[in-house]
Amino acid sequence: MKITLPVAAEKLRAADKILITAHINPDGDAIGSTLALLQILRSMGKNAEIYIDDKIPKNFSVMPFAEEIRQPREYEKFDADLLVILDTAPDRIGKIKDLTGAPILNIDHHITNKNEEGDLYIDANAAATCEIIFYLCRELSAEITKNVAVCLYTGIATDTGFFNYSNTRPSTFRAAAALVEAGVEPNLISEQLEKRTFREVQIMSAALQTTKLFYGGKVVGMFVDRELYSQVDTTEGLIDLIRVIDSADVAFLITEKEKNICRVSMRSKGVEVSEIAKRLGGGGHVRAAGCTIYQNMDIAKMTLIRTIGEFMIENGYLRPIDFENREEVDLAAMNFENEQS
Ligand code: 5GP
Ligand code: MN
Repeated sequence: MKITLPVAAEKLRAADKILITAHINPDGDAIGSTLALLQILRSMGKNAEIYIDDKIPKNFSVMPFAEEIRQPREYEKFDADLLVILDTAPDRIGKIKDLTGAPILNIDHHITNKNEEGDLYIDANAAATCEIIFYLCRELSAEITKNVAVCLYTGIATDTGFFNYSNTRPSTFRAAAALVEAGVEPNLISEQLEKRTFREVQIMSAALQTTKLFYGGKVVGMFVDRELYSQVDTTEGLIDLIRVIDSADVAFLITEKEKNICRVSMRSKGVEVSEIAKRLGGGGHVRAAGCTIYQNMDIAKMTLIRTIGEFMIENGYLRPIDFENREEVDLAAMNFENEQS
């Protein structure tokens, strides 16, 4: 059931033992929002813990209280009276559902979140879940300490591309300003998040070499195979290297993380990539979305390129005259790849 922010605050006040989680492949917003809420709830005297069913990328592991994030073990149980799911619907939290059967309070800003399990507070206009948590904090009259502010600022900064993306709205800046007043030093957070080892920069260069154009340059893709992936801590930021290409409306990155598990990230300048991701079982935002394709790299690549092409034709981003049927879309994708690479 959809609820308002004051009702969400009430649910938190009423609970004592609270399990907080966020999505797998956790990003700055997922990690920042869970860590901020952990501190807020503990300051209210609650017994709160964070479990995330994935590893935490090292650039985020310096955030305050990050060492408290636990990864669930098989068959582990956690006795809670509320499960708070942040920055995703309950379908992307991995094994957390096995940990507890507690009622769900879901707080999110993804337009594709259609969760009907438990209570949902959704604000699809919020730039980040951390922006929602900032306003929730006010609702709870909780103090925004410097440590809370650092976590919230990190999530807002990463989800807005440091206040560059179209999701950045006046209230995003207002929240950020209050967080800086609470002690955040934006330069230090940027430095920490940008940090890469020499090897990682070399890998970036190898990843860039895989870049190819499709559909006359309107789509650009990067491909990280298992060999390349095994050498990096995270692929975060790689897609930003190619989404700047002037001809491209859609940029994508396919990472084969494990055999036949390909993670897809998409960015766009207007094309509703959330809709493309949905067709492949994923979701996200209009201009930033993702999904997982359970195939090898070659098949995942064709599936994705074809789905992007079909969506773009149906919605007038590509001329249908060029692609009369599915087969030709495949062929066109291949041809463009050959032409442009
Ligand atoms: P990223 O490319 O940074 O992993 O994800 C971009 C956006 O799409 C993020 O807001 C992320 O939460 C969302 N997203 C990525 N993958 C999936 C997915 O498999 N399912 C859903 N529902 N959302 C996703
Ligand atoms: Mn987010």
